[in-house]
Amino acid sequence: MQIVMVGPPGAGKGTQAKKLAEHFGAPHISTGDMLRDHVARKSPLGLVVADAVSKGELVPDSILLDMVRVRIACAGCSGSFILDGFPRTLFQAQWLDKHVITESDSAPLAILLELPHEESIKRCTSRNEGRSDDTAAAIVEERLKEYDARVQPLVDFYEMHGRLIRIDASRSIDDVFALIISADLT
Ligand code: AMP
Repeated sequence: MQIVMVGPPGAGKGTQAKKLAEHFGAPHISTGDMLRDHVARKSPLGLVVADAVSKGELVPDSILLDMVRVRIACAGCSGSFILDGFPRTLFQAQWLDKHVITESDSAPLAILLELPHEESIKRCTSRNEGRSDDTAAAIVEERLKEYDARVQPLVDFYEMHGRLIRIDASRSIDDVFALIISADLT
């Protein structure tokens, strides 16, 4: 099972990814969580990315791709994963296909969690998970702008390959999960 979660901040990518990981027994890999962990530990990588992560700006591929490559290759993945927060750009999607298809001869499926912007802002600013990039509406708006600017080519890419599933993310957590697993995930 190779799934990538796509959607704006607050759409529930992390929540659904965790549920899917449990359901399918596949590792949940969140690039945001990995980066925040580096920042909290003040690792060399964390010190480089701290500013970008706190502002909701994209971390450069030159740093991120190596981190993802190592994580995907490590024990426990065995060619299956639920990726959350990656890919965010067309380049990252193409990179992932190239890497994953070479390694395991299969191709990831994208689940697009669709949510109106107002709802995205409302959910992010009202959740309290200690994330510095969630508390201010201005930062969430910045992350939404970044999302809008990059998501369409990504969506087109997966749609063109017949590997995109659109899900209405404005519904409850359980409803969204039911919609995902009732979709054709093969
Ligand atoms: P997230 O938890 O997925 O919202 O990610 C939090 C932050 O980590 C983002 O705002 C970016 O600064 C960084 N980040 C996470 N995933 C990526 C990615 N695929 N490409 C670039 N930056 C990322």
